[in-house]
Amino acid sequence: MRRLPKPTDDPVDIVTTCANSYEQSRTQGRKTRLLSALALVGRASIDYEQAAISSQLHALPRTNNTGLATADDMINAYKTKFVGGPCKAIYQRLIMAAPHGRCPLCGSRIVSTLDHHLPKEHYPSYTLIPINLVPACRDCNSNKLSAMPTNSDQETIHPYFDDFDADTWLHADIVQTQPPVIVYSVKAPPSWNTLKRKRAENHLKVLRLTKYFTTCAGGLLAEIKEQITVEGQRAGADGVRRFLQDSANSRRAIARNTWEIAAFVAMSESVWFCTVGYQLIS
Ligand SMILES: [Zn+2]
Repeated sequence: MRRLPKPTDDPVDIVTTCANSYEQSRTQGRKTRLLSALALVGRASIDYEQAAISSQLHALPRTNNTGLATADDMINAYKTKFVGGPCKAIYQRLIMAAPHGRCPLCGSRIVSTLDHHLPKEHYPSYTLIPINLVPACRDCNSNKLSAMPTNSDQETIHPYFDDFDADTWLHADIVQTQPPVIVYSVKAPPSWNTLKRKRAENHLKVLRLTKYFTTCAGGLLAEIKEQITVEGQRAGADGVRRFLQDSANSRRAIARNTWEIAAFVAMSESVWFCTVGYQLIS
């Protein structure tokens, strides 16, 4: 949901550093195999970039394509040399790249890990390629694991390659119930093609974000109940509407498509909510 600057770290340098830090005699085989894979890793990184730009990441080979270096070599190097070894500083810098520590996939929860955009268990060739490593919260990371895109429509938003921040597309509606409920969907701007709309919809679906956002919005309603009631008593529906509009506007400086902004916009644009609905918040 939020774009991040693409890392510029060279994956060949990373694999070289990881390989050379296997110093014990029993790990020399792993070291030799990783060093033999440098050219293939460089090639895989170029292929990845070209595929990501054209929504073709799903078409990259799932079989290990790093020559003598096995999938286990790549994953072992990631776990022991990248997360906590000689490349730890790169790992930590990539995690810290998310503004305010917010997960770029949901735009809400706190970053706690690096997500392999193409899962390392299924795409071992890209395990140590920085442009495949995205800071993420634990929930987005685990929800994404089960999804294996088979066409462009099914690819989730890639924060390093996809620009979904330029337009407002996360939409909310008020369900006129007691208490009111806020539900979320994609409202694609006219400039979008079908693929972009489907990818946004799929992103919300795969990461189970509509339900999560509705839950968050329920908490928001409870939080603002007292203040909104005061505004209603003081200035009626116009006062309620102004409070909601101001609340949306004050949050736009940070990001455009957040569940919170969409909720405030939906509330402010609902005549029912500004006259009756706000009094039904429990
Ligand atoms: Zn997240």
